[in-house]
Amino acid sequence: MPYRSPVAELRFILDKVVPLAPVAATEKFSEATSDTVEAILTEAGKLCDGVLAPINRNGDLHPAKLENGVVRASPGFKEAFNQIAEGGWVSVAGPAEHGGMGLPLTLAIAVNDLMAGANIALHLHPLLTQGQIDALEHHASDELKALYIPKLASGEWSGTMNLTEPQAGSDVGALRTKAEPNGDGTYSITGQKIFISWGDNDLVSNVCHLVLARLPDGVPGTKGISLFMVPKFIPDENGNPGVANTLKVVSLEHKMGLHGSPTCVMSFEGAKGWLVGGPHKGMAAMFTMMNNARLNVGVEGVGIAEAAYQKALEYAQDRVQFKPIIEHADVRRMLAEMRAETFAARSIAMACAVAIDLGHAANDAAQAARAALLTPIAKAYGTQTGMWVSDQGIQVHGGMGFIEETGAAQFYRDVRVTAIYEGTNGIQAMDLVGRKMMDQGAAAFALLDEVMLDAKAATGFADLATDVEKAASALRAHVETLLKQDTQDRFAGAVPTLMAFARVLGAHFHLRAAVAAGEGSAYAKLAQVYIKRLLPQAYASMTEAEVGAADLYALSVEDLAI
Ligand SMILES: Cc1cc2nc3c(=O)[nH]c(=O)nc-3n(C[C@H](O)[C@H](O)[C@H](O)COP(=O)(O)OP(=O)(O)OC[C@H]3O[C@@H](n4cnc5c(N)ncnc54)[C@H](O)[C@@H]3O)c2cc1C
Repeated sequence: MPYRSPVAELRFILDKVVPLAPVAATEKFSEATSDTVEAILTEAGKLCDGVLAPINRNGDLHPAKLENGVVRASPGFKEAFNQIAEGGWVSVAGPAEHGGMGLPLTLAIAVNDLMAGANIALHLHPLLTQGQIDALEHHASDELKALYIPKLASGEWSGTMNLTEPQAGSDVGALRTKAEPNGDGTYSITGQKIFISWGDNDLVSNVCHLVLARLPDGVPGTKGISLFMVPKFIPDENGNPGVANTLKVVSLEHKMGLHGSPTCVMSFEGAKGWLVGGPHKGMAAMFTMMNNARLNVGVEGVGIAEAAYQKALEYAQDRVQFKPIIEHADVRRMLAEMRAETFAARSIAMACAVAIDLGHAANDAAQAARAALLTPIAKAYGTQTGMWVSDQGIQVHGGMGFIEETGAAQFYRDVRVTAIYEGTNGIQAMDLVGRKMMDQGAAAFALLDEVMLDAKAATGFADLATDVEKAASALRAHVETLLKQDTQDRFAGAVPTLMAFARVLGAHFHLRAAVAAGEGSAYAKLAQVYIKRLLPQAYASMTEAEVGAADLYALSVEDLAI
């Protein structure tokens, strides 16, 4: 059976579990009624099922190629992208005055969940453009906005983000790309960037690079970095692609997966660029793009989890070993846990998106703080779920999972990078226990208090509610312990702490779904699986996180080599 977009589940989540209603109640998003949600998700679902999913395998088997300096996308990608662009799907949340739909980010994230499940490699193309539109909207001059955003929003042009250099990965501040003022308000950008997704392509008529570089008076480290718009073709006086800029794709990387998305080594050779945001304010501007992209990468994981689960579920019903393998308890366990994890990760991502929308539209500082807290969790847990579910998907297939024809392995290979790009999951976890705790835990405590109150009020599921309340209370105590730890100890426990948050929040949303769907419903049974089998892992994670760093460093580098 081909991929089917989980439209009904997203509607259920936005209706009952993480309601979009408070967002639709704001003046800015009054058009986001439940009819709009239904229309958007249904139409996006049709595009995903009918157009994007059928060419997903093409990307894997026929990777993008570099030919005479131009990147040629995989077969069928251009035609499919044209439909994405024509439907307005590049800019669901983009500003209406510049050609976007002007809908809440939550809807864009929901659509991205569907698209990533259908074809993650192609979906990365509009995803990066969306992030670029967001960065320009918040930081670019009116002139740059008017010139670039409409073309990006329509899908005529595409956007990339250029941070990484050979010596500057997680440590972005180590970058060496230079920007020299030309004296006419433009800049000459020189340097090499690596791993640039969709750094060139023949799906659009211009590729717009947002490039991090250092001005001559930029101090070392992140504080001296500025952001520049560097287009492949310099727009002429009518805003059409004009002369070629002095930049090129040097080569494409050979990757373990995500073959349909070209990953480029880029060379900027005195290329003409325009400053976005103030001098030396590049990281702030890029963070707008990265935060958007982090949540989107989280839902890439969720989308792949969905697709991998659907494939495994189908196979488990067809494959007979003594009896259909779905009747074996261990296979049933794998499927139930895959489904429960996917629902939890999807709900957390939607909760993050709703908080972002409320922060913006209602100017609600508490919601903005919640969004900031949830972003690293949504990114790391969403991608972790994508990896884990696709791994289990292979296991359900047995030997056939290891054979490429089934497609189970492609999900596993494609999703692996999501835990690495947009800030590795380790970096996300450090952000959670570091920067996001600079409020002395205020945002975390507010959220956990709400989880506990919600559990107290849950009717009909006393046993599950007690488990959720206890775990949230234990996590509250863990945050208090964490706040007393020194940085090294905190960082040693960062990933387990993030997973404890994910488990408690996942259980919280499962409980809400159970209450909304009612006793005996599939969601109530799924909540039972998550809360009784997966939530207890939160305690092990907290125990690990509180060990600190001493034992890790007691093992010297020589000891590690035994
Ligand atoms: C397919 C693909 C597409 C990509 N697309 C883009 C793109 O479009 N634009 C772009 O700019 N980049 C892109 N990247 C680059 C990506 O963002 C980086 O690979 C990522 O940020 C990690 O950097 P790195 O590879 O240098 O790893 P490193 O930074 O060398 O990290 C190696 C390991 O060390 C850990 N580590 C590093 N520093 C710390 C620290 N301070 N504390 C704790 N642990 C640490 C990491 O978590 C990781 O486990 C892409 C990469 C890939 C593979």
